[in-house]
Amino acid sequence: MPLHHAAPSAATGSDGSHRPRGVPVIDRLPGSRPEAPNDLETEQRSRRRRAGASPKAGPSATTGPHPFLGNKRESRPANSSNRSGPNAELEARRVRRQRRYALREVSWEHSSIRRGRMCGRVRARRAGGADQVPEIRAIEGDACYWSGVARCGSVWACPVCSPKIRHERSLEVEAGMHAWLAAGNSIVFLTLTMPHDFGESCEALMDTIGKSFSAVFSGRPYKRDRDRFGIVHHFRAWDATHGDNGWHPHIHAALFIQGHLDQARLGELEDSLFVRWAGSVTARGHRRPTKEHGIHLEEARQAHAVAGYLLKVRGEETGASLAMELTRGDLKRGRGRAPFEILQGFKDTGDESDLELFHEWEKATKGKHFSRWSDGAREALRLDELEDQDLVEKEVGGITIYRPTPEEWHALTATPGGLCRALLIAERGGGQAVASYAAGLRKRWRGQRARAA
Ligand SMILES: [Zn+2]
Repeated sequence: MPLHHAAPSAATGSDGSHRPRGVPVIDRLPGSRPEAPNDLETEQRSRRRRAGASPKAGPSATTGPHPFLGNKRESRPANSSNRSGPNAELEARRVRRQRRYALREVSWEHSSIRRGRMCGRVRARRAGGADQVPEIRAIEGDACYWSGVARCGSVWACPVCSPKIRHERSLEVEAGMHAWLAAGNSIVFLTLTMPHDFGESCEALMDTIGKSFSAVFSGRPYKRDRDRFGIVHHFRAWDATHGDNGWHPHIHAALFIQGHLDQARLGELEDSLFVRWAGSVTARGHRRPTKEHGIHLEEARQAHAVAGYLLKVRGEETGASLAMELTRGDLKRGRGRAPFEILQGFKDTGDESDLELFHEWEKATKGKHFSRWSDGAREALRLDELEDQDLVEKEVGGITIYRPTPEEWHALTATPGGLCRALLIAERGGGQAVASYAAGLRKRWRGQRARAA
């Protein structure tokens, strides 16, 4: 049996000719670093910037209880071993994986984005154009994963890529915050929102908010604030829900402040930012935000929690969302649903209006940056310059324990829950177990095709 099968292809024989069964294989040393799979479209690759030094997430700052940022997030980087970690955590991750994979199957069928319809179900393409081979890799004491498959890399709309990107990005932000806090500085957490009504287009609201945010953080008035309050860097990320008052996109930001601001100074900073925020929102034809609801400023003490909050690590699907931790009652009431909850709603009920909302979300966010550092922040904080696609393609090594034949691959992707189930079986029973599972699926799949023919 050769180690390398022909790459799975859509043109598999329906003539019943014998095809080799996928077998468990071990062709790499544990911990070796395989080539990262390439993305669906090479243009994306050319946009990428090269990585610098790797950010290392340090221990969480625990300088005291924070009134609102006490949330917990995935406690372990995806690329580290959890041999010492509790089994319960691995089980919890499996439950999340199962939910995410199931939701991605909804995207396969219904996403308005082509890449979203392909994510995880087609082979990754090498730079030269040759396809990679899907395979399951195992990391000792950790979850198995599919390698060699294309990943869409959408932090906005992909149920599988988004949590991975958010998690990786939060580690980066946390590392930056640690460096900053360790130098005796502080971080201020800022939320900017604007009034919105049911029926308003998500895209138009995001346009106003994005431009108004830029207006707040540019120009001479901002330079004055920067000097006056010691704002050196900032990191911002989008957040959005949909509820009784329609779409509610907003921006959270972390302001990296030199030294500390007392309450009075924080109040002055809030006043100054709010004047520009409200002015910019109204200049774009929207109702004026109120001071009470339009801006929220608070010193953040826990880098770990703030980074997790900013990137909505796990909040994208828990529903309870980390916003529930906020001290602000107005954000607690009628919080609405996050985009993946809307997609989940469509999956659960088949409600077409949920699918329309999710399509609106996909359209509104297309081509936009989900999160961004201010100019020079990455260099100053010594962070990688990794794009979302880089984060999602970050391979974590391990050994290949199973490689499906082309027919098995088709059977696995055509079976609801097939790819996720294969991972679970691989984790519990190893390469042989997943090979026989896939062989069974292939038989059924072939039988169905024969009947359909
Ligand atoms: Zn994806």
